[in-house]
Amino acid sequence: MDTKKPAASEENSTFVTNYVRDHRQELEELRTKATLLDFNGQWFIIGDDQYMQKRLQYATTSFPESEVSPRIILYPAGEQDLQKAMGLCRELSMAIAVRTGGHQYCGYSSTAPRNMQIDLSETFPSYEYDAQRNVLRCGVSNALGEWADKNMENGIYLPMGVCAHVHLGGHVHTGGWGMVARSHGILADHVLSFDIILASGEKQTIIRPEAGTTTASNDDTYFAVLGGGKGGDFGIVTHWEFSPLRDENYPNSACYKLMWLWTEDKMEGAVKKMQQLSKLCASGDIPSDYEFMLSITGAGFMNVLSEDIKHELKDLGHLLDDVPVPAMIQMWMCFTNKGGAEENFNDFWFESFTEEDTCGDPIIAHRHKNSPVSKGLAKEFIMLQDREMEYPFVKRSRVTMALPDEYPAVYKERMSHIMGTFGTENHQHLVSQMQIYAGGAVEENGKSGITSYSWRQQAFAASHDSFYAEGWISGNYKQCAVDWQNTNDDVFITQKNFSDTDMRMFAYTFGSDVLEDVWQFFYDSQEKYDRLRRIKHELDPHKLFSPDQFSIKPPKIDQKVKEVK
Ligand SMILES: Cc1cc2nc3c(=O)[nH]c(=O)nc-3n(C[C@H](O)[C@H](O)[C@H](O)COP(=O)(O)OP(=O)(O)OC[C@H]3O[C@@H](n4cnc5c(N)ncnc54)[C@H](O)[C@@H]3O)c2cc1C
Repeated sequence: MDTKKPAASEENSTFVTNYVRDHRQELEELRTKATLLDFNGQWFIIGDDQYMQKRLQYATTSFPESEVSPRIILYPAGEQDLQKAMGLCRELSMAIAVRTGGHQYCGYSSTAPRNMQIDLSETFPSYEYDAQRNVLRCGVSNALGEWADKNMENGIYLPMGVCAHVHLGGHVHTGGWGMVARSHGILADHVLSFDIILASGEKQTIIRPEAGTTTASNDDTYFAVLGGGKGGDFGIVTHWEFSPLRDENYPNSACYKLMWLWTEDKMEGAVKKMQQLSKLCASGDIPSDYEFMLSITGAGFMNVLSEDIKHELKDLGHLLDDVPVPAMIQMWMCFTNKGGAEENFNDFWFESFTEEDTCGDPIIAHRHKNSPVSKGLAKEFIMLQDREMEYPFVKRSRVTMALPDEYPAVYKERMSHIMGTFGTENHQHLVSQMQIYAGGAVEENGKSGITSYSWRQQAFAASHDSFYAEGWISGNYKQCAVDWQNTNDDVFITQKNFSDTDMRMFAYTFGSDVLEDVWQFFYDSQEKYDRLRRIKHELDPHKLFSPDQFSIKPPKIDQKVKEVK
């Protein structure tokens, strides 16, 4: 990431003013052509009124404006507008970045001013559940929070992430990792079919591959869209069809949320416990329907607390209006009762976090027994606000196949640099999350090979993001955050205190924005990478959907790509 160029904001920008001044003729040509196309939806050209507000998305706080300022932002009203937009882009040699929820961590659903951004946040909002067939068909514009509420009303659920504002558009592409992943895998594992508009303009319905039934090109597109990159590299998806899970089949499910005020010792205790449990999960001693997610947050203006938790903290005197939230430790745990009515819930592993030498008594405890998972996902295991903290960030997120014994102590030492004694130091605010995947359905579901998500054998995932202060009064602490993360890379990866291999996920990107330089971190085999590049060549030879260097590239013409099929 460039640490010198200014990040994009909603305010006036010299970058935009200069760009408009230097490209007046091209922009007028674009305006004339866009007007003639008579889109049903709205569009905004760089420099227009409202453009600054329209270009905002999760990553604009933290990335240079030259990378997140599209030439034109289109809000299509439907498929006809999409076809017109693709024609315009072909004519003017613009590539297309697709945005639905705008939560791509590096801003890859936005693009540089030579390209178009298509925003689908409201274009395809449908939600149709056929209870008889148990098939759920949804437009990509569903946001996870409202979607989980609707699922709960229907007594169904699917694996999903924890941010209410992430949308199905990108979320399914990047997997959909979350609370019930050990039990049921990722959201993408439940996709029956999807509708996609390809670079050729053709609309196709791609169905779940089945040997002897589906075609090779169907199976390639399914493989590529589900896991093949950051999302958006192979076409524009408009609808997903899922096969959901029914609450009624899992009557003994339980949803637990325990919270503690942060101390360094409690933090180390919780991480140590996660490490011990991850081994028991890997060995099969803890069945795959027990889920464990740990969050550690530094003091600051924080959004990760749900409204009911905020009220409870206020009642306890730990939260005041307009005062930073204290540093916290949270355990989210779920028993999904995959064995049905015959299988009883054992709270032993969940309660082990309350042992004196771990975290002790929590200040807030939600222990919902015989409670549907759909309700847990909609009400307990969800972050309702748009972002974790009100600051720009420098991110790190990786997975490991087995957590080394040294990890808890090393983690504690590294976090102490930005947590200090009171939960924040050096103007940085930690948001760190860990989840156990060992011995569960993420690996099991991957064995069919129909999707291309990498590192499915992962035992454990961990992130530690620094949200740093930046302002006229506080100064800019970005370089501190960058330096801290660089040392973390050395300690956790080079010195092997987290993993001996650098394994990253497309859901949580960070680092170099040139995929060719870092592809080994994101794909677990050369064969997979080569197959995906070949599919890219077949579906999008002219790179209409390659708006940046992080898009997968088709192979060079003279380069022979190894086939795996
Ligand atoms: C605060 C926060 C919390 C998160 N928590 C989780 C979590 O718990 N679990 C998890 O798995 N992930 C999580 N993520 C990551 C998130 O799921 C991914 O970034 C996801 O891809 C975002 O989808 P989006 O539509 O909201 O974002 P966008 O930025 O709009 O899209 C993300 C990517 O998908 C592409 N894309 C979007 N829509 C389409 C479409 N219709 N057709 C083709 N391509 C498309 C975009 O071009 C982009 O590359 C989180 C992200 C944030 C910022």
